[in-house]
Amino acid sequence: MRPLVRCRVSAINAVRATSPVTPGQPSRSYARTPSQTRTQVNEAAAHAVPVPVLAASGQLTWHAVDPVRATLALVARDALQLVISPALDRVRDCAGAACGALFLDTSRPGSRRWCSMDTCGNRAKKEALRSRAGG
Ligand SMILES: [Zn+2]
Repeated sequence: MRPLVRCRVSAINAVRATSPVTPGQPSRSYARTPSQTRTQVNEAAAHAVPVPVLAASGQLTWHAVDPVRATLALVARDALQLVISPALDRVRDCAGAACGALFLDTSRPGSRRWCSMDTCGNRAKKEALRSRAGG
């Protein structure tokens, strides 16, 4: 598995492991993160992150010696912050049948079901409409 994919999977697993979620339902459990997953995410987070560089033109760019590892470090650091945050209760599994994405439900009622209305939500609504129409 490539490093970026492995880190993303580890970060997702860290969130999933700390909070078993039911599709469309809020998480309630703060079980411990499995050791191997915690180690992988901690190691990824330990790498250097991109640094800002201001050019003479006034343009701000971001640089890293190893851009892939630097990006992984950012993802891993965000995952670690999320795992210890109260926002973890707002992490949901997308209710889309073939999706599998996790998302942070920022809706006021906390009842969002899909990662995106443009993709999974729209697809589910079309399927429900088609089902009601009998076809
Ligand atoms: Zn989705």
